[in-house]
Order: sequence, then structure tokens, then C-alpha cells
Amino acid sequence: MMDLKSKRVLVVGLGKSGLSAAMFLRSQGARVTVSDTRSAVALAKEIPALLEAGIMVESGGHGLLTFRRQDLIVVSPGVPMDTPEVKQVVAFGLTVIGELELASRYLQGQVVAITGSNGKTTTTTLVGKILSDAGVPTQVGGNIGLPVIDLVAKSTPETVNVLEVSSFQLETVEEFHPRIAAILNITPDHLDRHGSFEKYVAAKERIFERQGAEDALVLNGDDRVTQMCATRAKSEVFWFSGTKAVRKGAFVRDGVIVWVEKEGGVTEPIMPVSEVHLKGAHNIENVLAAVCAARLAKVSAEGIRASVASFTAVEHRLELVRKLNGVEFYNDSKATNVDATMKAVASFSKGVHLILGGKDKDSDYGLMTELLKERVKAVYTIGSAAEKIERQLHGVVKMVAAGTMQIAVAEAAKAAVTGDVVLLSPACSSFDQFENYEHRGRVFRQLVNELI
Ligand code: ADP
Repeated sequence: MMDLKSKRVLVVGLGKSGLSAAMFLRSQGARVTVSDTRSAVALAKEIPALLEAGIMVESGGHGLLTFRRQDLIVVSPGVPMDTPEVKQVVAFGLTVIGELELASRYLQGQVVAITGSNGKTTTTTLVGKILSDAGVPTQVGGNIGLPVIDLVAKSTPETVNVLEVSSFQLETVEEFHPRIAAILNITPDHLDRHGSFEKYVAAKERIFERQGAEDALVLNGDDRVTQMCATRAKSEVFWFSGTKAVRKGAFVRDGVIVWVEKEGGVTEPIMPVSEVHLKGAHNIENVLAAVCAARLAKVSAEGIRASVASFTAVEHRLELVRKLNGVEFYNDSKATNVDATMKAVASFSKGVHLILGGKDKDSDYGLMTELLKERVKAVYTIGSAAEKIERQLHGVVKMVAAGTMQIAVAEAAKAAVTGDVVLLSPACSSFDQFENYEHRGRVFRQLVNELI
């Protein structure tokens, strides 16, 4: 644990976790400054509380001097490590860490950490539920809900901290050491920020960098990239697979989810797949990963079964909004990349009216061609990525240039017939037309609920 008393600490980026980190550092007696490129006007909501707490605020840009005069710099996950000021101080040898790393140095109890390109929130929420239903003192946080630093105060040596961690958070870890780590899948995402796929994979792999033989790493046996991770891990590797038996871990056999703790050991039945109330094969993968984590945390098969059976979709993740005139409307606003959208589309056999678009993340929408031909009746494009999507999917399925969510919902509802599905699964981020994906999902939900 670092002694922060009277240390000069700079927090870069005033998002939710940056704000929490600044307040925590201040509570430990550090002399804290926060720096954000947004203007004082844009930060009007945050600034008074910071000043009140005795924290200095730099807004409207970063001053190099502010950066140099520090003992420690805490960078928010939204701030790229190649921000010029950050790069400079790293070159000067200053200690630069992220909020996850800061929190790990103070957090008591065990850590179960979950990362992946898709399925993090669903799996993290599920693991948290299974553990707390089983009576384990559990806290859930990270990229989901509470920043990890906010879990510190209530953590005890008995606590199991279930953390959703993103590649951005993992970029800045040093001592972060989960007892159980899981990488659900690695597909191209956030390449605009990480620069290359290799760098993105390297960031994800940092989840097990500090693990040793006494720790567990859960990997996806059906994902080629996560398979490669096993060769670099020092921890004991467990696998999950939705398609085949694994030597050690969780898989489906004759419609039953099973668990094998030791290679060549007994196969323990956990629950029938039919008791899982989540849509899509991808969600079975999430359940299998959660089973591994929960079983490794010593929750019984009966405990896992009861908890998973009472778990329904997390908001904005293949969430059934309404059934109207035989048409089901699903909100999958959280699908912000092509892979997530493909999983969502693959959850329905046919008759899909798919709303696609938003802010492009350098994605290749052409990857969806075969799947769209098979299952999608029409694509309704919205947002700034619309033109690129129309170009890449030209001639694949019927395209409707809707432009806005309002028109997309109206047009899709008009075209859909009994048995069809209207699916918002945009494969893009939302920031061109909405505050965030939650806002986009709420707008979709409201428009769907207003349909008559
Ligand atoms: P994350 O937190 O990683 O973004 P979520 O659980 O919030 O993941 O799910 C986001 C979207 O990703 C879902 O709406 C779904 O379309 C898709 N998804 C969920 N789980 C998986 C998975 N295991 N593999 C691929 N796609 C998934």
C-alpha cells in the first residue's frame, strides 16, 4: 500500500472513475489536482464538489507543468496513454497508473476479474449474483456500476470483488492480481484507440500478467485468440466451450451444463441448458464462463443452478421490449461492435429487421454479409456510419436509409409481419446521436412502446 499523505497526485480525466479516484486520493491526505480537456462550463457539475474537497482543478486542456510537478499520475480509462502530456511524463520516469491499479493497491479480499470484447457486463453481473445468492460477501464493480476505487471502503479480507475490466483499464495495471481471471473472447474492437489488434490483445492479456500457479485463468475454448493466451499464462487454465467437451472447465453435454475440475476427473452436472433464460448461443458462453468462475470460487452446483435459472437479460442486452401484433422488439443497444451484432442476429433464425449504425469504430460491416443474407429481411441505417454501412452491405439485403432512430423504428414496425423480429443491435457506438448506449436504448424502448 502506498502512503499518499502529502503526495502530489494528478488525476487525468474527470469521468466517473476519475472523480472517484480524486476523492479517494484526497481522503488519504494526498495533494490532488485534476486535469481535463473539457471546459470549466462543461465540468460545472463536478467542479464545486472538487473544490470543496480541497482538490485543484485544471480545465480546458492539460498544462505540461501540471503534469511534471507530481509524485504520481492516475490516468482515467477514457484518456489514451499516447496523449502527448502523458507520453512525456512516462518518458521522464514518473509513475503513471490507472484507477484500477490504484484501487487494487487498497482493495481487501479476493478479486475475480472478467474481460473480453463482448459479454463482460452480462458475465460479471451473473457471477456477482451467483456468489451473493450463495451467501458469499460480494461486491461488483469496475467498468460496470461502481468504479473499483469505490469498492475499497467496504472491502474486508473475506470479500470477493467481482470486477468487469476493460482493455483501457488493463493498459495501466502493474500489481493488479486477480485470483480468478476470465477472458471471454477477443475480437477486433476499439482499434481506433489501441492502434492495432496486437496491442489490443496485449492489453487484455495483462489481466493474468501477475497471476501464478495458485491462480485460475478461464478462457474460451472456441475463440482462437484467447486460446493463444494459454501459452503465455503462468496460472492454471480452465476452459469453457459451447461447442465441444473440454478437459478442464465447463461445457454442454447432452443439453446439460457440466463442470470438470481436474483433467481426467469426474464430470459434475450443473444444470440443464433449458433452465437458462437468456437468448442466444453467446449467452450460453457467458453462463459457462460464469459457471467456471463460480465453481472455482467454491459455490456448489445446486447454488449455481438456482441462481442462473432466476437470471434474465441485463438492460440493453438483447432485452425484449415488447411483442406487438406478433412482432418482437429487442433492445440490444449495447452491441457496439460487429461481433456483438452478429451474435445478436444469430440468436434469431429468420425474419429480422435490423437497425444498424451510429458512430463508426473503423469496423468492417462486410463481415456480416452471410449472416444477414440468411436471417435478415431488411437493414435500417442510422447515424454517421450509415453511408459506410450502405456501401459495404450494398446488394446483400434490402437497405432502408432511415437516418434517425425514430424513422428506423417506424419503418421497421411498418414492414414487419407476424413472427418477425425488430432488433436494435447497431454495431456502432452511439455518440453521434445520443449521450451513450443507454440513452440510445431508452429512446428505442420509448419509440417501441409508443407504437400502436
Ligand atoms: P460488454 O460488457 O463486454 O460490452 P455485454 O454483456 O454488455 O458485454 O454485452 C454487450 C453485447 O455483446 C450484447 O448486447 C450482445 O449482443 C453481445 N454479447 C454478449 N455476450 C457475448 C459473447 N459472449 N460473445 C459475443 N457477443 C456477446
